Amino acid sequence: AKEHGRNTYCFFTPQMQKYHTRHLLLENALRRAVEREELQLVYQPQMSLHNQQLIGFEVLLRWHNPELGTISPAEFIPLAESSGLIVPIGDWVLSKALTQLAEWRAEGYNQITIAINLSPLQFRQTDLLAKLEQLLAQHQLPATTVELEITESAMMDDPAAAAHLITQFSDKGCKIAIDDFGTGYSSLGYLKRFSLSKLKIDQSFIRDLLTDADDKAIVSAIISMAKSLELTTIAEGVETLEQQQMLHQLGCDDIQGYFYSKPLNRKDATAFIRSHIF
Ligand code: C2E
Ligand code: CA
Ligand code: CA
Ligand code: CA
Repeated sequence: AKEHGRNTYCFFTPQMQKYHTRHLLLENALRRAVEREELQLVYQPQMSLHNQQLIGFEVLLRWHNPELGTISPAEFIPLAESSGLIVPIGDWVLSKALTQLAEWRAEGYNQITIAINLSPLQFRQTDLLAKLEQLLAQHQLPATTVELEITESAMMDDPAAAAHLITQFSDKGCKIAIDDFGTGYSSLGYLKRFSLSKLKIDQSFIRDLLTDADDKAIVSAIISMAKSLELTTIAEGVETLEQQQMLHQLGCDDIQGYFYSKPLNRKDATAFIRSHIF
């Protein structure tokens, strides 16, 4: 390979080659994952710290491929985003999640909300709102039962597109939560101007909440800022009773994390509703 001219030389270490092969393998498999019914949704409970009641669920994607096994969202979501596959996959998530919510409401659980993750590519689609409205109408769901999660960094990468999306959706009654909050350098100006509902405090600040004074100061500052902007706060990645108690003490509204429950399949989520409502 040394004979190649400088301009045509292509470096591929065995490591890179391995990565490249897996990347292509996964992308090809992901392309067919929807039609082959390899994707599944799981639902993680979100609980109120005020009354210990179930508020609703965050919807999270899972992928199991017969040859490749179970692939983590941390690996396949970035791939879905870079390949554009997140758009059809995201459509599938919306449709599936709203079908599930309608099913729960039909059983009489009409207080429940669902939070759905939106990738930047999805919210640049001009027909996203129309798609959601069509699904809401089809299932006779009020827009207030659906919350859209957008990461703080996605919002700040393209504030104009984010502002447009947020205004459109909140005008229809959907709630908007800023995901991974605290990691993406929002300006206070945006937080005030955008019609947001909720700040979701990133789990990196929760992990060492009891031992790291900086993390406690940050979480406390986020909560007081949210209160003055009339936004709700939810902490994610809450794993222990001590973290829950501290968050309660700091005035956080809601929590999500292994302390209450891991993400559940639909059957277990339904059982969770039955034991945490009424
Ligand atoms: P995220 O939106 O920040 O989701 C929270 C992640 O934290 C989830 O990982 C969840 O399973 C995990 N988690 C929940 N409670 C705890 C806890 O107490 N401790 C710890 N250590 N982790 C906890 P998951 O399911 O692997 O998802 C990873 C990321 O993939 C998500 O981060 C989200 O960015 C993305 N993702 C998942 N599903 C979707 C989807 O349907 N659409 C899009 N666009 N992205 C998705
Ligand atoms: Ca999320
Ligand atoms: Ca998050
Ligand atoms: Ca820290």
